[in-house]
Amino acid sequence: MTNAPTSHLIQDTPASAALLNRARAVTPGGVNSPVRAFRAVGGTPRFIAEAKGPWLTDVDGNRYVDLICSWGPMILGHAHPEVMAAVQEAATHGFSFGTPSENEVLLAEEIVRRVAPVEQVRLVSSGTEATMSALRLARGATGRSKVVKFAGCYHGHVDPLLAAAGSGVATFALPDSAGVPASSAHETIVLPYNDVAALEAAFVEHGDQIACVITEASPGNMGVVPPAAGFTDALRRVTREHGALLISDEVMTGFRCSAAGWYGLEGEPEGGAPDLFTFGKVMGGGFPAAAFGGSADLMSRLAPEGPVYQAGTLSGNPVATAAGLATLRGCTPEVYDRLDAVAHTVADAASEALAAAGVSHTVQWAGSMFSVFVRDGAVRDYEDAKAQDHAAYGRFFHEMLRRGVHLPPSSYEAWFVSASHDDDAVAHVLDALPHAATAASAG
Ligand SMILES: *Cc1c(COP(=O)(O)O)cnc(C)c1O
Repeated sequence: MTNAPTSHLIQDTPASAALLNRARAVTPGGVNSPVRAFRAVGGTPRFIAEAKGPWLTDVDGNRYVDLICSWGPMILGHAHPEVMAAVQEAATHGFSFGTPSENEVLLAEEIVRRVAPVEQVRLVSSGTEATMSALRLARGATGRSKVVKFAGCYHGHVDPLLAAAGSGVATFALPDSAGVPASSAHETIVLPYNDVAALEAAFVEHGDQIACVITEASPGNMGVVPPAAGFTDALRRVTREHGALLISDEVMTGFRCSAAGWYGLEGEPEGGAPDLFTFGKVMGGGFPAAAFGGSADLMSRLAPEGPVYQAGTLSGNPVATAAGLATLRGCTPEVYDRLDAVAHTVADAASEALAAAGVSHTVQWAGSMFSVFVRDGAVRDYEDAKAQDHAAYGRFFHEMLRRGVHLPPSSYEAWFVSASHDDDAVAHVLDALPHAATAASAG
């Protein structure tokens, strides 16, 4: 880990600032997905002109080691040569056919081969569509309407799944977003994560109306909060007892935590696999491709075989599926080893730097996904995740950014690494960390 580039500090970003101003005139908040706006940390989001391997280059020409990796998809690094070649090759044959094509079959086969309980998948274009469709299928298959989700779990911007209750006890949720009718949120029961007693109580009260429990396989959207020992087993047991389905949302963890996602890492729950899985992010390789899947029997309830309607003009897009397939094929055991090594090096160094600066913190893991919570003690649920020193994270984030490392602009996110994070990129991160830790401590 030598030859770290001597970093000049990034002070000014006039081109990003100018683009943000123009963007604000024509797009709400100037961004097309809210977290990109830096609201949680303040400052000017960087408009990226180019990304290669582990590096982002903004429109002012500043370079950053990327620890967002497009929130997961860029597991091999940006513009990976094999993925690039697959995309270029696919594009020469046309962009979208509106008819079946071979890449869809190959990508579906690749997913089914990796995740044993998944016999069939339906391809869609975003994680949101995957969870929305899985929910519809669960309701269609059970003839029930209620759905259980956990506070702090994000499943895309699906109306009934945006509901995330306040603290504490099981409660019928109020919508988290304007525009979600109470009637929709009313079918959602939000429970604290990792709380088996709350789960059992909700099923005692509403068990015969609950279509499904949806959970992040290992939550990453409140920071990384893995299931406590036995929690996934309890989800399986309780749903089985009451005839409800279990949906494991692996949009973030799928093909990242292991070749078979969180399922591959944690193993099959006692009592059997989840009924439905959702995938996205990595399986699109940076393009819009996602999927949901389960047993052939359950999936046969979908149109055109069954009565549950689901469709998409661009579903299974030939260029997106080429990118996804090349990415999954590139995810070799060596890639997973490299992700683990990079993640542990970075996380250990972050922890060491924060400790040296006297900043209380906790690092939590799901495979090579990790996050650094600015607080003492384990984070088991959303309430714990909220109880962080968010201002300290903001200072930490900005000092890293100034030194050319782009962390997620929120203290509720996982840090993502790629297999392209080489020793130079890692050294660049390690150089920045002590300065950022000092900034975090200077509250
Ligand atoms: C990102 C994410 C989604 C939503 O996926 P989009 O492609 O952004 O719609 C759903 N579930 C989980 C667990 C996610 O991390």
